[in-house]
Amino acid sequence: MTKQQIMDYLNSENESRRLLFAEAVNVKKQYVKDIVYLRGLIEFSNICQKDCYYCGIRKSNKRVERYTLSDEEIIIAARYAFDNNFGSIVLQSGEVKSQKFTDRITKLLNSIQELSSGKLRVTLSCGEQDSSTYRSWFENGACRYLLRIETTNKTLYKQLHPDNDNHSFENRVSCLENLKNLGYQVGTGVMIGFPHQKIEDIADDIIWINEMDVDMLGLGPYLLQNNTPLSQKSNLLIPEASRLDLSLKTIAILRILMKDINIAATTAMQAIDKFGREKAIKAGANVFMPNITPSKYRDNYKLYDNKPCIDDSPEDCMNCTDIRMAMVDNIIAYGEWGDSKHYLGKSLN
Ligand code: SAH
Ligand code: SF4
Repeated sequence: MTKQQIMDYLNSENESRRLLFAEAVNVKKQYVKDIVYLRGLIEFSNICQKDCYYCGIRKSNKRVERYTLSDEEIIIAARYAFDNNFGSIVLQSGEVKSQKFTDRITKLLNSIQELSSGKLRVTLSCGEQDSSTYRSWFENGACRYLLRIETTNKTLYKQLHPDNDNHSFENRVSCLENLKNLGYQVGTGVMIGFPHQKIEDIADDIIWINEMDVDMLGLGPYLLQNNTPLSQKSNLLIPEASRLDLSLKTIAILRILMKDINIAATTAMQAIDKFGREKAIKAGANVFMPNITPSKYRDNYKLYDNKPCIDDSPEDCMNCTDIRMAMVDNIIAYGEWGDSKHYLGKSLN
């Protein structure tokens, strides 16, 4: 696909839009089937040392009550996922760089291995870390890592982040490369529809992600968070429905291009549309992440406003998942790890 073709797809309406989604459905059926893998999402801490301009839990947001789940609460959540046959969990948090944090995660990874006799796959999403930290986590049982590049346009990257060493585009790329070299299944992604981003930028993102040859993708619409610096540019935003539509088209294009990667139907999709995640599954996604964070913490992990399911319990999210996937005629692969076929294919070569 040329850049122009990608842009045409992103701009498509009516018949050409329908054809894009039909082709994504075909590729999905052929390469990964109508099967959805579950990841129990544990948002274990909202403490963050960074100040990304778009994010509600950025360090400078004083209106957030900070929390960290205890080791015991994390283990209980992991056990819940294991007992309910999820096959896999995601541990996500704000970014903290310290030996204490590294050691704590390493210890938790060991406990999770122990409780599941190594049968629960763990994905981490804890931001940019030193190679030695990534290595220690990999050696102790983490096998996947999610780190979105957010945007591949360096000028836009600077508009989304403070201009300092702690928020460097180059470092983020080198983290992704380190993760890949260590042997992780690597996931990245972007936000769609933030101020100043153009269709051409999204096309460049798609080309970049394809060239990075990642194993997993997690992308979603940019959503307003009122206590953030970026909210001051809300007058520049395209409508939420357009941000969702562009996100779905980006998923479809990347499904067609990258064929056998794992693509997540992210929560942000559902913040715009009750059935946003189901639409993502229809557009080519094959991973669903029921939130299994204890209810009492959910209100404080608000990266953006109007985050869905904040009053739900893990049981609510679990019960809802079956119904939601049945609605889109996809089968949930209970008990399966759901490793990225793309990654497995590369390891064989
Ligand atoms: N601290 C880690 C993981 C938590 S943030 C990290 O930054 O990688 C996870 C993702 O939430 C980010 O990658 C970003 O893409 C998304 N996010 C944050 N604020 C958002 C917003 N206002 N709208 C949409 N997505 C947002
Ligand atoms: Fe922290 Fe991640 Fe939010 Fe940036 S996006 S402020 S690193 S939690």
